[in-house]
Amino acid sequence: MDLCNRSEVKRLLDKYGLAPKKAFGQNFLINPSVPRMIAENSYALAASTPGDGPHAVLEIGPGVGALTCRLAEMYDRVVAVEIDRGLIPLLGESLADYDNVEVVESDIMNVDLPTFIEEKFGDILSAGGTLSVCANLPYYITSPVIMKLVESFPMSAPLPYAAITVMIQLEVADRLASEAGDSEYGSVTASLALRADVEKLLNVSAGNFHPAPKVASAVIGIIPHGGICQIYPEYKTSPLDPDTLGKKTVELIGLAFAQRRKTFVNAVSAKYPKDKITEVLEAAGMRVDIRGERLSPRDFCILADLLNR
Ligand code: SAM
Repeated sequence: MDLCNRSEVKRLLDKYGLAPKKAFGQNFLINPSVPRMIAENSYALAASTPGDGPHAVLEIGPGVGALTCRLAEMYDRVVAVEIDRGLIPLLGESLADYDNVEVVESDIMNVDLPTFIEEKFGDILSAGGTLSVCANLPYYITSPVIMKLVESFPMSAPLPYAAITVMIQLEVADRLASEAGDSEYGSVTASLALRADVEKLLNVSAGNFHPAPKVASAVIGIIPHGGICQIYPEYKTSPLDPDTLGKKTVELIGLAFAQRRKTFVNAVSAKYPKDKITEVLEAAGMRVDIRGERLSPRDFCILADLLNR
């Protein structure tokens, strides 16, 4: 079965009385080289981690299974979470040849990730293996899914993933891969950078999907680092524990970007007294008229620490 052939995908959907659902962001891949490249990039990131344990992957939104098959050929275990009940019997047929794949019918936004990961991958992780996340994400919830993958775990420890490799809108990919001072830099970018590095891996044009989306896409790799303990080693001298400091930093980032045309002092003055903010900026050697868009994730950690002393 060729799950990347437009006519085959249409035939399969017809057979199960289905059509692509806009509400679920269903744009299926119809160029076989794209899922292959996504899976290869994902697996290469997992395989480059130290250790020789088994490798597992969580896929979000398998659709008709085009990416799932490629992942199943590389990874030891694939667990795929699909919201669309209608696709479950279809996936039973399209993935019948793979005994290392489990499909779970659920909305990823309602999944309790720490419990789910322990249940589905606890054995692999205790055997020294890795867990990755890989998806051609539904575009209507790209950022919420990415933030959920990250924010479900405490700030004080590295995230439990070798890497998160996802296809998303090109515009969002550019935003997430941007840095302080870039025009695309914003609160999701800065908050994500507290936990991981983001690398743009591939550009994918709209013609590779059925139906074709209105926007171009890109694949990014989100590679967890040591979190705020790595980017702000001075956390050890803070009266706040790393989790609280992390939460205060994320909150500060949110305030700074909620009104991005304002200076940092004015943007966060609803929460902290202006004279304290000015004093802290001076103590940190930063300009008092600086805007949030110029502050790096580490700068936000420094400021959150000093503002909460
Ligand atoms: N992986 C397939 C591919 O690459 O051809 C399909 C990708 S399609 C862009 C997005 C998939 O995510 C669809 O199968 C859709 O039903 C599923 N989906 C949408 N929202 C979801 C959610 N909240 N939880 C889990 N799956 C979801």
